[in-house]
Amino acid sequence: MSNRVYNFCAGPCTLPLEVLEEVQRELVDYQGTGMSLIEMSHRAPEYDAVHKEAMSLALEVFEVPEEFSVLFLQGGAHLQFAMLPMNLLHEGRRGAYVHSGHWAGAALRDAKPHGDVYTAWDGEGHHYTRMPAPEEIALEENTRFLHVTSNETIGGIRMTRWPALDVPLVADMSSELMSRPIPWERFDLVYGGVQKNLGPAGAAVVFVRESILGGTNRALASYLRYDVHHEKQSLHNTPPVFVIYVIGKVLKWMQRKGGLRAVEREAEARAGLIYQAIDESDGYYRSPVAAEDRSLMNVVFRLPSEALESRFVAQSKARGLVSLKGHRSVGGCRASLYNAMPYEGAAALAEFMHEFRRGNG
Ligand code: PMP
Repeated sequence: MSNRVYNFCAGPCTLPLEVLEEVQRELVDYQGTGMSLIEMSHRAPEYDAVHKEAMSLALEVFEVPEEFSVLFLQGGAHLQFAMLPMNLLHEGRRGAYVHSGHWAGAALRDAKPHGDVYTAWDGEGHHYTRMPAPEEIALEENTRFLHVTSNETIGGIRMTRWPALDVPLVADMSSELMSRPIPWERFDLVYGGVQKNLGPAGAAVVFVRESILGGTNRALASYLRYDVHHEKQSLHNTPPVFVIYVIGKVLKWMQRKGGLRAVEREAEARAGLIYQAIDESDGYYRSPVAAEDRSLMNVVFRLPSEALESRFVAQSKARGLVSLKGHRSVGGCRASLYNAMPYEGAAALAEFMHEFRRGNG
């Protein structure tokens, strides 16, 4: 397909072309049923097979140990900001938060009405350009979990040193879901909106340690309870069937590529090209973030002036390299390089960066 662009949008974002084409082929008549998957009952056997397969693939591809259950929920990552404290912070337990940037701040703000939460490390003094060293995180008494935002989509930093503390970790991995292995033994829960690495917008995926479900808050509306979704296998209510169907296909695509390690290697290679273009530019391109915490998914960079940044974004767009403008709150440029971004896309961007610098030095 010749009119596809390289889409560097932070989310929703690029999805694997072969998945889109497969969805297109199947859309009108799903497996000879005479209807599309999005027109049939979520209790139909055809949908049930899709649902169960997506669930088991999510566990398999992300190398999730069997102590965990996977849930597909609506409300994106935002609903998880609230569901987490609602379910876990009852009976006087407290939630500790690493405030590493925009999204950690949002998680903390949304947790406040629903539980006793506090900031265990604040990156404000560093303008949110780095993650904490594990020993910088200060826990207080009665802490139920430490919440981390493993990849800050706007700030362009990621957590490489997972804290090993006396409390379980909870991670918002929205912008790097299934792009790297994680030490599951330290986690009670991992969640993320799916609209970056896994599929179209409209759901969050939640991995929850099954042993904690017995102790979660029961005094909540049914949709807000993790234990209910676990028991009903994410079919408590009508699930986002189309999203789950596409996620299943993306997960199979990841499997065909070689699984998590292959995906991680590709992420390192793609991001490596862009960071190299930055580092070899004699300061023309500037990465504002600490070198050891550089995100592999969202590469943020500045040019010598805002005028040059605008020109860079316009000229790259004309080349079919789209959505390179940084988030409105921080400015600059941002290349989001999620799992479905081909290596060639990153290579084309790196080449354009060299060329732009030569022409606008
Ligand atoms: N956390 C992170 C790290 C994100 O990048 C985003 C969305 N960009 C969110 C949370 C919010 O996700 P949602 O829109 O699914 O609520």
